[in-house]
Amino acid sequence: MDFGIKGKVALVVASSSGIGKAVAMELAKEGAKLSLCARNEARLLAAAQEISAATGVEILAVPADVTKASDVESLVNKTVARFGQIDILVNNAGGPPTGAFESFNDEEWAKAIELNLLSTVRLTREVLPHMKKTGAGRIINITSMTVKQPLEGFVLSNSVRAGVTGLAKTLSNELAKHNITVNCVLPGWTATDRVLEIQKARAKRENRTEEDIRTEIERSIPIGRMAEPEEFGATVAFLASERASYITGVSLQVDGGFIKGLI
Ligand code: NAD
Repeated sequence: MDFGIKGKVALVVASSSGIGKAVAMELAKEGAKLSLCARNEARLLAAAQEISAATGVEILAVPADVTKASDVESLVNKTVARFGQIDILVNNAGGPPTGAFESFNDEEWAKAIELNLLSTVRLTREVLPHMKKTGAGRIINITSMTVKQPLEGFVLSNSVRAGVTGLAKTLSNELAKHNITVNCVLPGWTATDRVLEIQKARAKRENRTEEDIRTEIERSIPIGRMAEPEEFGATVAFLASERASYITGVSLQVDGGFIKGLI
């Protein structure tokens, strides 16, 4: 299937590793030009070089922290200065810390909102005028399976991702007339550094081995294993494609059957 995104410009946020990097790679395989960002310049450049060597697409790498409004503004300006337009925006960031409700104070709540909700608001706000100018766009937010099935010990993620989902649904209605689709893609358990950290923290807390925790997680997934990041990336590439022109306002889980609800 031709996804029809060769030569389109994709801004993929928080893309030096994990899911963001895999999304960038899948879009590059379809021929999209990339603007990538992360806080650590060395890791970001390494990711950009790996994707460029594998696919040959043009890549701009901008060190940026998505919790800083000025970084977001400059990331979007630099992307437009280099490529002239932005066709695809993939909103992503690291995840908030795990823990029970009573372990977080106001400051930690504010940080989680800044990291996952406000970053999405700011990036979308900065990119929108450019999509409206070209008369089309794809906005894809990386949220979490916790949106459809809250996880124990993930109170910050369970709460803040719901805000991103409400934002996305509202925007999908507001922006449809501009030929801009807005969707969320929900990772289930996906084998990335974040998951290794979560496993390690749980193993320590519960005085168990990491292997034991991983086996328990895998048993909770009907497919019986975690996703590889590229399996997630391929789904985002499809939603970013011309082929997904009539899909907007959805929250699509890529979870190996983990979520037990009907929708
Ligand atoms: P990860 O920690 O492996 O990678 C996160 C990426 O974001 C890295 O490139 C990091 O440098 C970048 N980043 C973090 N904070 C940033 C900031 N303030 N500014 C710019 N870049 C920043 O995480 P991942 O597993 O790839 O997950 C991506 C998102 O998906 C996270 O929000 C995570 O919570 C969510 N998620 C992941 C899983 C999973 O199983 N991996 C499951 C559900 C939800």
